[in-house]
Amino acid sequence: MKNVNKYILTIDQGTTSTRTIIFDSKTSIVAKSQMEFTQICPKNGWVEHNPEEIWELTVQTIKNAMNMANLKATNIMAIGITNQRETTILWNKNTGKVVYNAIVWQSRQSQAICDDLIKKGLNEKFHKKTGLIINPYFSASKIKWIFDNVKNVKEEADKGNILFGTIDTYLLWKLTKGEIHATDYSNASRTLVYNIIELKWDEELLNYFDIPKQILPKVYPSGHIFGFAKALTSIDKHFEKIPIASLIGDQQAALFGQCCFDEGSTKSTYGTGCFILMNTNDKIIYSDKGLLTTIAWGLNGKVKYALEGSVFVSGSAIQWLRDGMELFKESSDCEKSIRGKNPSGGIYFVPAFVGLGTPYWDNDARGAIFGITRATTKDHITVAAIEASPYQARDVMEVMIAESGFPINYLGVDGGASVNNYMMQFQANLLDAKIVRPTCLETTALGAMYLAALTVGFYESEEEIKRFHQVEKIFMRQLDDKKRQELIKGWKIAVDATLEFKNK
Ligand code: ADP
Repeated sequence: MKNVNKYILTIDQGTTSTRTIIFDSKTSIVAKSQMEFTQICPKNGWVEHNPEEIWELTVQTIKNAMNMANLKATNIMAIGITNQRETTILWNKNTGKVVYNAIVWQSRQSQAICDDLIKKGLNEKFHKKTGLIINPYFSASKIKWIFDNVKNVKEEADKGNILFGTIDTYLLWKLTKGEIHATDYSNASRTLVYNIIELKWDEELLNYFDIPKQILPKVYPSGHIFGFAKALTSIDKHFEKIPIASLIGDQQAALFGQCCFDEGSTKSTYGTGCFILMNTNDKIIYSDKGLLTTIAWGLNGKVKYALEGSVFVSGSAIQWLRDGMELFKESSDCEKSIRGKNPSGGIYFVPAFVGLGTPYWDNDARGAIFGITRATTKDHITVAAIEASPYQARDVMEVMIAESGFPINYLGVDGGASVNNYMMQFQANLLDAKIVRPTCLETTALGAMYLAALTVGFYESEEEIKRFHQVEKIFMRQLDDKKRQELIKGWKIAVDATLEFKNK
């Protein structure tokens, strides 16, 4: 590392806000600017964003962060971009005007298009080629929805006047003043039309959605010199020479930002829900229990894959105790309930507010609390809600271990709820992994920064990055195996009873 006075600027374009974070050569944050943007909800279950607003705020946060850090563009070595995945934008390549709002990943307006394909029995075909399932989350059905619902767009697309991009692609196109239309493997792998085995847009799958190939971006490794930030010359003339050196979807970025470079290394993000990704190296592992198979990243001529699973309710169980039950005022107050040797009092809390995800897959299950006695207090119930996240995350990881054959030795943790030491220790007690909480919990931005840094030679290797990766705390198992098995057995019985109750 020979770039002491140089910095990497990252854009973290998320679902509710856009941030610019500038990192120094020791991976410390020197400036951060964050701005929230409008959530447009035209109908129940629809979520859209205004891409032009996102672009303007992106530029604004870059300006703010540069001012805060008091830096010139000559100090910036590269730009990295990480983004909310799957969110879909179509725009006119001649005018730059978007033809419709960005349709956000969680938006359900293309459900009928997906139902139609599922009815035709195509799920298995899509799963084999893309690692995903047919679902409105992914970009392809959103593209078709715009074709079906916005006048002239399909005709213009056939004439070659329309471009498609996920947010990374749109920002890249804007930053390079319309010169570069590209994406990376991780983002392409979330579209439902990218063949993750052959690493190419899949003609057969494209046909099912009537998507013409010419609207699609070129796909490159996640670490790559995509272009130069010519659109930022109004901030500083020298930006026209600053390379955009990484693009990567947010969850995969967090996996990289957690230094999960090796086979079996896993990250778990404890936010509203819980997102878990395991690095499966060069192996494409298909799941029978509802995990997704996805591309982790492409770098140095190699593509790495990952297994992905999610838990619907993690920190939001704490939010419910806070706002619904009014047990405390701030989420962090839940930690005051942790007292004594058995802080949950043997209570199990299954927070199936919206059903249960991997590996149970039951949309109709609803939450339950088990084991209440006359001695049960609100503290016991609060602690049981804290313990629910590690239990559910372990359920996902159990499937990952079984289906991949890799043990989880290393688990990087992040997200708003990961600050809870009791929760992280509980997670360690349920696993045989070294649980690592980094100093910088902005692991998504960190991942884009590490990739950009490797691409421009700011760092030389993953080994060097590991040396700079700052760890705040490590959690190891402090519970004997017998006790652990008892806890897990109790949890499984509680989940089974929750599922059973639904059938009554
Ligand atoms: P998201 O990005 O999904 O909005 P964050 O990563 O910001 O979520 O995390 C916020 C979540 O973390 C909230 O659901 C909140 O209840 C939970 N949370 C915050 N602090 C704590 C804590 N000390 N213990 C447990 N959960 C917490």
